[in-house]
Amino acid sequence: MGLYLIIMGVQGAGKGVQAARLTAHYGIPHISTGDLFRAMKSREDELAVRVQTIMKSGQLVPDEVTNEILQDRLQQADAQAGALLDGYPRNQAQAQWLDQYLAERGEALTAVLLLELDLYTAFKRAFGRVTSSSGASYNIYFNNEGIEWHFEEHPEQLYPPRLVATEKATGEVLKRRPDDADAAAVIKRIDTFERDTRPLIEYYENRGLLHRVNANQSIEAVTQDLQNAILKAQKA
Ligand code: AMP
Repeated sequence: MGLYLIIMGVQGAGKGVQAARLTAHYGIPHISTGDLFRAMKSREDELAVRVQTIMKSGQLVPDEVTNEILQDRLQQADAQAGALLDGYPRNQAQAQWLDQYLAERGEALTAVLLLELDLYTAFKRAFGRVTSSSGASYNIYFNNEGIEWHFEEHPEQLYPPRLVATEKATGEVLKRRPDDADAAAVIKRIDTFERDTRPLIEYYENRGLLHRVNANQSIEAVTQDLQNAILKAQKA
C-alpha cells in the first residue's frame, strides 16, 4: 500500500513548511492543486485560459477539471508510492472521487493531517509576515529580533497605516505579500477555510482518518507530531 496523505490547515498554520519536510522524509511528492493550476499560466489553450479566469475570480475550478488534473498528476512515476495532497479535496464530491480513485487501484487514504491553529494566531502569522529578497522570513509579532519595524500613517489618512520593516543585518526594506497586507483579505481567507473545510473535517473524522496536530509549536515539534500521527495511521 502506498502512503496517501492529505494536509489541511488555515493560512499561517505552516502547511508549506511541513509539507516540504514530510515529502522529503517519506519520499513522496507534494501535490498542490493550486500549484498545478498556477503552472497552467504559461499555456494558452482553452482549458488553461478558463482555469486562469476562474482562479482570478477567487472561485473554485469545476470538480471534473480538478479531478482530471489530479488524476494526471497521480499517474506520474514519482507518485506511485503515494503522495501528499494539499488544497485537495476542497469539497465532499472531490473527497468521494479520491476515495473511489484510490479504491479502484487497491489503495486507500492513509491519513488526513489537520494543522490546528487558533484564528487569532493565524491572522498574526499572515498579517505580520515580511520577507527579504534572499528568502529570509520574519514576523513582526513572533520573529522580530532581526528587523526594525513600524506602522507609517498615510499623510492624508486615506489608507490604513502601512507596515515598514527593514532587515537589521542588511538594511534591506522587507516585502509583504499584497494579500497579507490587507487585513480584510486575510480575514476573508480564514473565513473561507473555516467554511469550506469544516464539512470535510467531519467527513474524515467520521471515517477515523483525521489526525489533529497543534500547529502552535516549533516547526520541529509540529513535524514530530505529524510523523507520530502517520505512524499511528499506518498501524491502524
Ligand atoms: P490554493 O493555492 O490552494 O489556494 O488554490 C488557488 C486556486 O486554485 C483556488 O482559489 C481555486 O481557484 C483553485 N483550486 C485549487 N485547488 C482546488 C480544488 N481542489 N478544487 C477547485 N479549485 C481549486
